[in-house]
Amino acid sequence: MTEAALTRGGGLALTDEQHDFVRAVRDFCAKEFPPERLAEITDGYRDLHSEEVAGRMAELGWFGLTIGEEYGGSGGTFLDAALFLEETAHGRAPIGGYAVTLIVVGAINRFGTEAQKRDLLGRVADGGGLAIAMSEPDSGSDVASLKTAAARENGSWVLNGSKMWCSYAHKASHILIVCRTQKADSPHEGMSMVFVPRDAEGLTITPISTLGGEETNELHLVDCGVPEDALLGTEGNGWTQLMAGLNNERVILGASALGLAQRAFDDALAYAKERRQFGRPIGQFQAIQHKFAELATELAQVRLLVRWVAQLTDEDPGRMLPREASMVKLAATELAKRCALEGMQIMGGYGYATEYPMERYLRAAVVTTIFGGTSEIQKNIIAKTLGL
Ligand SMILES: Cc1cc2nc3c(=O)[nH]c(=O)nc-3n(C[C@H](O)[C@H](O)[C@H](O)COP(=O)(O)OP(=O)(O)OC[C@H]3O[C@@H](n4cnc5c(N)ncnc54)[C@H](O)[C@@H]3O)c2cc1C
Repeated sequence: MTEAALTRGGGLALTDEQHDFVRAVRDFCAKEFPPERLAEITDGYRDLHSEEVAGRMAELGWFGLTIGEEYGGSGGTFLDAALFLEETAHGRAPIGGYAVTLIVVGAINRFGTEAQKRDLLGRVADGGGLAIAMSEPDSGSDVASLKTAAARENGSWVLNGSKMWCSYAHKASHILIVCRTQKADSPHEGMSMVFVPRDAEGLTITPISTLGGEETNELHLVDCGVPEDALLGTEGNGWTQLMAGLNNERVILGASALGLAQRAFDDALAYAKERRQFGRPIGQFQAIQHKFAELATELAQVRLLVRWVAQLTDEDPGRMLPREASMVKLAATELAKRCALEGMQIMGGYGYATEYPMERYLRAAVVTTIFGGTSEIQKNIIAKTLGL
């Protein structure tokens, strides 16, 4: 049994099929992404989404997990998707655009027309990507303050505005733009969602240089026209539609962060058993042992939380779980950051060197507590559900 399997065992009410599925994804990642091969696929870890890898995983049915069979998917549960995200993050699969794609898939499942489902879900089941643009230069945590506008003109939507931080827009076939379509008294009213193809005239996608590589983009929309049927759901209902997706979004981000946390933990643990100082493995020092004991306990707690909320979402996809979903996002992402930071401390200078992947795990982890709603915002939401 590997270290990962030992620390991750425990059942958690997974079915035999789910155990087999997790093992298959784990084996695939271990075989396909050894360090030299991963460096090659990702152009030296700069490009963390390979369309070729996505295509091969799609052939195995893994990109269609939350997509119905009638749209080319494999019709699994949301828990299956959470298991896949955890395992692929742990296995360093270069499919960085998949999590955001899954967030948009959730929105299409809930609000898409038959034609949108056939087209867009079919593309994803084949390994394609989708992106979502809420954030703007002056609108981050306060999403409802967004200004990008879409106006109806001669059977089209014409969009104007700027978006920030749109992850993997450069790899997506379509970007779901959250925008204003009506003037309203409340900022939560008059919002809508419109799909814009990546190659639409009037849309410019500019990469933003970050600690993590080529992952996110600035978008400019100048008189960008799309057909009227590019609207997702109901005009003016955008805020409600966004809120309906929060369970999914937070579990998706939490499951990925959990996989990253476990990866940092496992690598540090293997190192602590090998590295010798003062005539013994550093893992024999109590100061190091306690770090592992604490992190192993938290990993088990977070895994239970992620899977519990995924299961609750499967039981009733329409149920809003603001407290639990925010707990998942908060706990999993803060843990990923802590595992990578402690992992670096445990590995000493070698953890800091680019020869080892720990510094990349840390760069990947620090942003998880920022995107998809910062940790402060998750705490605000949890506190609000407590009547504060
Ligand atoms: C790599 C990356 C990928 C991203 N991908 C996407 C994407 O695909 N689509 C998309 O739409 N957006 C995306 N985002 C945007 C992301 O969701 C925002 O960065 C995030 O919501 C925070 O907004 P901000 O950066 O403007 O920070 P701000 O909102 O300006 O916040 C700055 C600081 O103030 C704190 N703060 C703000 N308001 C409060 C409050 N009420 N109480 C307490 N503290 C508060 C924040 O927690 C933070 O510490 C991405 C961001 C990054 C960095």
